[in-house]
Amino acid sequence: MTSFNPAAFRAFAAAIGQEWVMTSAEDRISYSDHFAADESKHQPAAAIAPATAEEVRAVVRIANQYKVSLWPISRGKNFGYGGAAPVMKGAVVLDLSRMKKIEVDAENGTVLVEPGVSFFDLYDYLQERKIPLWLSVPGNSWGSVAGNALDRGVGYTSYGDHAARICGLEVVLPDGDLVRTGMGAMKDNPSWQLYKPGFGPSWDSMFCQSNFGIVTKLGLWLMPEPESVQGLDFEFDKPEDLGWAIDTIMPLRRDGVIQQSPSIGNWLRSAAVMTTRQQWTKDKGPLNDKVVTAIREKFKIGWWSVQVRFYGPTEITEASLRVLEKAFDKKPILSKKPAKWTRGDPPEGSPVTGVPVSFPLANANWHGGRGGHIGYSPVLPPKGDLAMDQFKRTYDLYSKFGMDYHASFAMGDRSLTNVNQILYDKDNPDMMGRVDAMFRALVADASAHNYGEYRTHIEYMDLVADSYKFNDHALRRLNERVKDALDPNGIIAPGKSGIWPKALRGERS
Ligand SMILES: Cc1cc2nc3c(=O)[nH]c(=O)nc-3n(C[C@H](O)[C@H](O)[C@H](O)COP(=O)(O)OP(=O)(O)OC[C@H]3O[C@@H](n4cnc5c(N)ncnc54)[C@H](O)[C@@H]3O)c2cc1C
Repeated sequence: MTSFNPAAFRAFAAAIGQEWVMTSAEDRISYSDHFAADESKHQPAAAIAPATAEEVRAVVRIANQYKVSLWPISRGKNFGYGGAAPVMKGAVVLDLSRMKKIEVDAENGTVLVEPGVSFFDLYDYLQERKIPLWLSVPGNSWGSVAGNALDRGVGYTSYGDHAARICGLEVVLPDGDLVRTGMGAMKDNPSWQLYKPGFGPSWDSMFCQSNFGIVTKLGLWLMPEPESVQGLDFEFDKPEDLGWAIDTIMPLRRDGVIQQSPSIGNWLRSAAVMTTRQQWTKDKGPLNDKVVTAIREKFKIGWWSVQVRFYGPTEITEASLRVLEKAFDKKPILSKKPAKWTRGDPPEGSPVTGVPVSFPLANANWHGGRGGHIGYSPVLPPKGDLAMDQFKRTYDLYSKFGMDYHASFAMGDRSLTNVNQILYDKDNPDMMGRVDAMFRALVADASAHNYGEYRTHIEYMDLVADSYKFNDHALRRLNERVKDALDPNGIIAPGKSGIWPKALRGERS
């Protein structure tokens, strides 16, 4: 496939303006994955930045004509999973960050955003207009409301399953056609952002983590500002507390008393955003218990920590809090701290109250040098013993590869997502030399237990897709049949989620 065809780039410039066609070496570097071990491996050929859906359609038609692969990004802040970079080296990044329209339905608690709207943009928009709706934001809120939801990103309020809150999309298909899903399929239907299914098959989830289209508008439900938020921050002293803590919280999660997804994280998740390794030890080897204890004492954190929150009328949050207290009664917790926010209080400034933040990005500094990380996130059933087992095996692999264990277990309605970060220093060749083998060992371990990742880095999309093996990869075959039908020239995001178009299947790693 031609990636850098001067005639194609002249046509792109004629369609969207020369200044939005970015082809210099500097541009290629800016759209690379700065967290990656080898940034050149997935470097794009160029980037182009249309400003409207009509311009996206024009770009797609040109891409078909010249067979140029496009990699759509909303804001391209997908750190840990590939940043702005494409799976296939030499693809052209389709940067949608100039598309920044916001339409809020304050009464019904919905928003229709274009891909360039960041969490900060939407937060400011709501605050400036005093619209009493709350966001759900990811730990790194630098990205896009739409892009994050399309990658099935997560937040920490009861609206934290972002893909589940999508209601209606506008999508440019690979042949340049423009479709609106759900009730949006009827012109000017007032329920586009209100009723998810529409009539007939519903397609919203087909455009999540896929390469079947380019989303140019995304409808999302927002949480009406609650009267109160109450909860507890728990600290647990020992690694083995993970199991019973999950078994204590999970029944309340399942029966709906807890409506957010509490995420129980180890000490390093908290510490890595507040300090650096060098402040505690010059030893490059595994951290010993003395160092870990000193860090925990300084920041008053447990081996594991979790924040549980309730949202709504004060009568209800108070009653829910009592149920939580009762569940933890006589359990061997290290400490618990109450948290309370009441309408009228200043914003609390944290993701559990939907305020965008960027401080978690500080964890890239843990080792010093040019920092980065890669995410490994298998999903497992929500049982304490399985979580303990998963923790021990993963911990052992971190130790074997000489890395510092950084993990959390997010409790969904019916599942646990074990989000691990492998933190590294890109200026340490010895450390970087271990990352790939470690990641592969982790995926092999998950697969051996029949667990699959919910999301992965661009380098490992084929590896993870390959682990979904039922009936000779029937799901991948289905995905690729759909891909070939919709995108015969294979121009949209080849290789995304392990889905390759016919002409490029030889690229599968
Ligand atoms: C310290 C740290 C903490 C983090 N915490 C969280 C967290 O709590 N929760 C979480 O979810 N993530 C987290 N992340 C990961 C990531 O930074 C966020 O998910 C971020 O929001 C993703 O970037 P983005 O929103 O700009 O999406 P993008 O990078 O623009 O898009 C994500 C992917 O979706 C696809 N896509 C984007 N837009 C479109 C479109 N319009 N049409 C079709 N496909 C599209 C692209 O393939 C892209 O690769 C964290 C990262 C770091 C470094």
